Amino acid sequence: MKCNNIIEELTSYLDNALDPVLRQDLEEHLKKCKKCRLVVDTCKKTIDIYCNSEPVPLPDETRSRLHSALRERLQQNRR
Ligand SMILES: [Zn+2]
Repeated sequence: MKCNNIIEELTSYLDNALDPVLRQDLEEHLKKCKKCRLVVDTCKKTIDIYCNSEPVPLPDETRSRLHSALRERLQQNRR
């Protein structure tokens, strides 16, 4: 799994909706890749904050905003 795939699968991962095989791949990648670990941590914190204020599943809009924010962050990290 590559950094880009992590971002693709991250929302499913955080929803616990990810295929177990992919999930394992993703976790393996996180062990090796500090950059992605950072992204996942940030993302988890964002969701925690969101969930603490309003205990409902992430709406699609929030989800896609999060997704594009993560994508941008990853691209910035590459430069
Ligand atoms: Zn990575």
